[in-house]
Amino acid sequence: MLTPHGLVEMPAFMPVGTQGTVKGVTVEQLQATAAQMVLGNTYHLSLRPGEGVVEELGGLHAFMGWPGPILTDSGGFQIFSLAQMTRISEEGAVFRSHIDGRLVSLSPEQAVAIQEALGSDVAMVLDHVVALPNELDAIRDAMERTVRWARRCRDAARRAGQAQFGIVQGGLDESLRIECAEQLVELDFAGYAIGGLSVGETPGEMYRVLDFTVPALPRGKPRYLMGVGRPQDLLTAIGLGVDLFDCVMPTRNGRNALAFTDEGPLRLRNRQFERDPRPLETACPCAACRHSRGYLRHLFMAGEMLGPILLSIHNLTYYQRLLAGARAAISEDRFSDYRLAKMQSWGVPIGM
Ligand SMILES: [Zn+2]
Repeated sequence: MLTPHGLVEMPAFMPVGTQGTVKGVTVEQLQATAAQMVLGNTYHLSLRPGEGVVEELGGLHAFMGWPGPILTDSGGFQIFSLAQMTRISEEGAVFRSHIDGRLVSLSPEQAVAIQEALGSDVAMVLDHVVALPNELDAIRDAMERTVRWARRCRDAARRAGQAQFGIVQGGLDESLRIECAEQLVELDFAGYAIGGLSVGETPGEMYRVLDFTVPALPRGKPRYLMGVGRPQDLLTAIGLGVDLFDCVMPTRNGRNALAFTDEGPLRLRNRQFERDPRPLETACPCAACRHSRGYLRHLFMAGEMLGPILLSIHNLTYYQRLLAGARAAISEDRFSDYRLAKMQSWGVPIGM
């Protein structure tokens, strides 16, 4: 995918830079993980510091000092998950800020205008996310509103060079998902996201939704699975045709002393690592892997801030290495073997 700030090789994983920073990691450290594109959160940045401040300071790229491609979400998921007392009408969403409780509105047109002020390379349409499980009528209602809002977002887009992606909703229901995908494809977006997953359904249910939704989206355009996920979710979704991912898991888990490795996740607070002289992974080039597991464990036990920083760096590097491996395997036509070998080394049953 070519953007105004460079090429993104697919499949790709985007670290999440919620508030204009990937938590705990400098831009140079982030670049060293081989991240190509980062995600910024419209909801957070519009509440604080406000898109006007970001725009005045040169746009999100200059503001956070990240020279590469940036995708911004629309705020739909955060309104669903973070805001309080959200009310959705046809016009848009009205909610209370989770920061100071003030009443804020967000319409499809405002979601576009905020992302244009932030100046991201890829903007997302505003969607209506509902919790799962839910009544089929409520899921259909939100899906149909998502399509109407997608059309309003498309019609409101003005910024040259900023691509816009539609978002497929429809819960776990096959006919709703396909209907939504077909209507969005008619609107001709630059790419398509599959939203409303990772909201309480099982991994098996998510894979089933991907299995019937991905084929309804154009092969020649990026297909983005929002907010997912674990390493096994990424490889399974790639096998089903997904190109793009974002997730807080590498950084959030890193801050909580969990390291992703080819042996599966290591919980560094465990006593077994107290005298372990080995790095997290011998083949990993990251800054954390210059140290022993025993030292990293010590940092967490002593409450030193370097522990969460180093583990975030390692996990981000692990995800990028996993995706680079997937790209190489795809180009050499051995992706199934690559996925099976990783699943085996993690001890994850196939299909989970
Ligand atoms: Zn490492």
